[in-house]
Amino acid sequence: MSDTPSKTLLTDLTREALAEWCEAAGERPFRADQVRRWLFGKRVESFDEMHDVPAKLRDRLKEEFDLFTSEIDRHQVSSDGTEKLLLRLRDGEHVEAVLMREEKRRTVCISTQVGCGMGCVFCASGLLGLRRNLSTGEILEQILRLDRLLPSAEERITNVVVMGIGEPLANLPNLLPAVDTLNEKGAMGIGARRITISTVGLPDRMRELAAHGKGYNLAVSLHAPNDELRNRLVAVNDKIGVEAILAAADDFFEKTGRRVTFEYVLLEGLNDSAACASELAERLRGRNAHVNLIPMNRVSETGFRGPPMEIAKHFAAILEKAGTPATIRKKKGADIDAACGQLRLEAEQQT
Ligand code: SAH
Repeated sequence: MSDTPSKTLLTDLTREALAEWCEAAGERPFRADQVRRWLFGKRVESFDEMHDVPAKLRDRLKEEFDLFTSEIDRHQVSSDGTEKLLLRLRDGEHVEAVLMREEKRRTVCISTQVGCGMGCVFCASGLLGLRRNLSTGEILEQILRLDRLLPSAEERITNVVVMGIGEPLANLPNLLPAVDTLNEKGAMGIGARRITISTVGLPDRMRELAAHGKGYNLAVSLHAPNDELRNRLVAVNDKIGVEAILAAADDFFEKTGRRVTFEYVLLEGLNDSAACASELAERLRGRNAHVNLIPMNRVSETGFRGPPMEIAKHFAAILEKAGTPATIRKKKGADIDAACGQLRLEAEQQT
């Protein structure tokens, strides 16, 4: 495996912490903002490119910090413009990050953990369990790497979905400073409403996110209308239950005014029946919710597959008729192993 880290990753520091470091180094705190503007706004690769930062300070920064920690192990480009990176971290672990193009939108999907401990049976990310949390800097670096794939200065990342490998809310202390930096005007400047965090449904953490008060969107991966079925699909549900998740989603809406999205991966013969759709509609009745139906991305290791499009459309129609808006997510990057965790799984299997 690679070297043990000797320097601190710059993006592991919040804006305030970097400003304090600058002061301790005998510099004015606004230097922190200058450094962050170069890194997040101007796509530099090194401290030397930060021209308005005094050379002496650049040298001190170089001694103390690394700007990047990961290597690009693989870079895949899909025929639909989707790009996917497999990043190798300092300790040899891998994570994935994806850039999707849709008209003027440039959406990135990022990971928050190496592996995942939630145990969704159809998902590639959890097959090998949880290895560790990503640090704030490791989360941000995925964005920096993807941003640098965009060809012109005018083309910027417009949307972020935290839907890659891992359970974001199980790593909330590292995730929140990262998304706050994405949102920060002097850094990436991406509006809170264009940032969506997806969770398996951890009620206490959902409330914590609401209390954070920034107005990020929440998506909850429900996948089943009742505990009997959800326990079979999402191992961790055993300890939580659909009712507790819906109550936390209600609290989230009440506190933030943001409509919660419920994600529902359609699995042929398991959760795609008209009866499931009606039961889901019943459970969501009166809630300010939206259902995003996800066509299953085939993961060869799991054997599950999605139903034909007519079934998905019928499922959506039942929800709509009962008053719950439902959309079917467009498939992206079908030719580049787009299901999160697939590339990492391959890399693991090769070593
Ligand atoms: N742990 C979080 C976020 C990561 S997964 C969560 O559970 O929400 C993001 C979404 O992709 C989740 O809804 C997840 O269930 C779904 N997903 C996982 N594997 C998939 C696959 N093979 N095909 C389609 N969607 C998948």
